[in-house]
Amino acid sequence: MNRVIAIDGPSGAGKSSVSKRVGTMLGFLHVDSGALYRIMTWQCLLNRIDTANPAAVAAFAQTVNVECVPRNGAIAYFVKGQEPGDAIRTPEINKHASPVATVKEVRDRVTAWLRGMTRFGDLIVEGRDITTAVFPESPARFYLVASAEARAERRRKEEVEKGIANQSAEEVKRSLLARDAIDTTRKHAPLRKADGALEIDSTDLTLDEVVQTVIEALPAEWRRT
Ligand code: C5P
Repeated sequence: MNRVIAIDGPSGAGKSSVSKRVGTMLGFLHVDSGALYRIMTWQCLLNRIDTANPAAVAAFAQTVNVECVPRNGAIAYFVKGQEPGDAIRTPEINKHASPVATVKEVRDRVTAWLRGMTRFGDLIVEGRDITTAVFPESPARFYLVASAEARAERRRKEEVEKGIANQSAEEVKRSLLARDAIDTTRKHAPLRKADGALEIDSTDLTLDEVVQTVIEALPAEWRRT
């Protein structure tokens, strides 16, 4: 069985940057599980499915197929041959993704895709339920947090740099906290720190410091990759 490093935490805690960096250093494929929930949401919106109607979302989720392909150290996703790109990073998708992610049938489908990816090699998987529900047996599980202000500022900068949106820090914070509230209180696989996961608060740490903390906490033989 290939190895899995699991990283959970709320939006903007630094999961993506840390996972990409650690993945590159160790040769583990980076897996962005949030992108799969965003793809589900994108497809719902394109097909005019009411994201506030869990039964409609559940039925529609069965029809969505995502092709997962290892590419340049990560898993890339395609829907009907098309790569979603920044179409899944808009404020509109941010707003609808958490309600869609509450639906059990959506979660089951994404979880199956994620578990299937172990066939491609060693993985570093980031998300909200990776340490608790998708790969709870992994010996390398992390819970990354940061203050709401730091998280909102990171997300705002990212959006501006990518030219996706130009929201104020306050707007970004509001959207982020709204998602946190749904993600932490939902019935199926809510965001929480798993027993045995190492919590890292990245508010006052540099990316290098967080990466170092993760690497040092890995089983010794994984570090020799
Ligand atoms: O990580 P990202 O912000 O791209 O995730 C988008 C949304 O997908 C989250 O707000 C959350 O509702 C959902 N998600 C989830 N479980 C995961 C990853 C993401 O419920 N493992």
